[in-house]
Amino acid sequence: MNRLDGKVAFLSGAARGIGGEAAKLMASVGAKVAIGDVLEERGRQTVKEIEAAGGQAMFVPLDVTQEASWTAAIDATVKKFGGLDILVNNAGIFVGKGVEDASMDEWHKLVAVNLTGVVLGTRIALPHLKTSGAKSAHGSAIVNLASVAGLVGSQLDPLYSLTKGGVTLFTKSTALEFGRKGYRIRVNSVHPGVIDTDMGQQTFAMRARALGTNDTEATRKTSLTMHPIGRLGVAEDIAKGIVFLASDDAGFMTGSGLVVDGGYTAQ
Ligand code: NAD
Repeated sequence: MNRLDGKVAFLSGAARGIGGEAAKLMASVGAKVAIGDVLEERGRQTVKEIEAAGGQAMFVPLDVTQEASWTAAIDATVKKFGGLDILVNNAGIFVGKGVEDASMDEWHKLVAVNLTGVVLGTRIALPHLKTSGAKSAHGSAIVNLASVAGLVGSQLDPLYSLTKGGVTLFTKSTALEFGRKGYRIRVNSVHPGVIDTDMGQQTFAMRARALGTNDTEATRKTSLTMHPIGRLGVAEDIAKGIVFLASDDAGFMTGSGLVVDGGYTAQ
């Protein structure tokens, strides 16, 4: 189940965190993985870990906000691995400030990474995904990292929510566009709850500051209470969802959102 033998996957922002775990898991089930990130040293370390475990991986420098960077990264991947079957638009940044408190500079950065990055990745990978999709029984796959913040309101991070809501509907809309055009590309999103990664730590710190305290342990505990399952998520929880959506086991899924949130949105 969930095998990716012979598939080539490109993951943005996969030097660490959710993307890093997804890259490792994909390689362990047979995919050749390309890791694109601004964090070169960390990305090369993740490649080494994958290779040490017997997998195939490469690092490519990528700034998702720059079209030329995407073009170079996808070209290098196709040149080395011979095609592209899976795109994971995972790179993202977080701003945990209210409308009055966030600066316009922070907003523009959020838009550039969380929205423009996803549009560029989709556009530039598209010709390759069309080609591989036409040859595959269940098509090629795009998996976009949205969030629970793209499904329900979030009083502490409305600007971040706006970007993730955009990713949610871009996923559905591109699934429709590509399906109607006859491209055999499935597009789905993943909606994590709070996940204990570097971004998760940043979330606790920013929320603490927004509430006028330095007590990140308190905001961590508050986040925990929002997850009825009784724990915060770990990157592996989300990696499993990403691999499922990328695999032929999700062959009848497109335009869907996979919610992996420990019950966060059930309340
Ligand atoms: P993370 O901060 O640990 O990792 C994000 C990665 O994206 C980093 O490696 C970073 O270098 C990379 N990145 C940032 N800007 C980039 C750019 N301009 N170009 C290329 N790479 C860039 O975060 P994470 O927790 O692993 O989050 C991964 C995705 O999951 C994000 O889209 C995030 O919004 C989403 N998400 C995270 C959580 C959470 O609680 N951690 C919850 C819901 C959704």
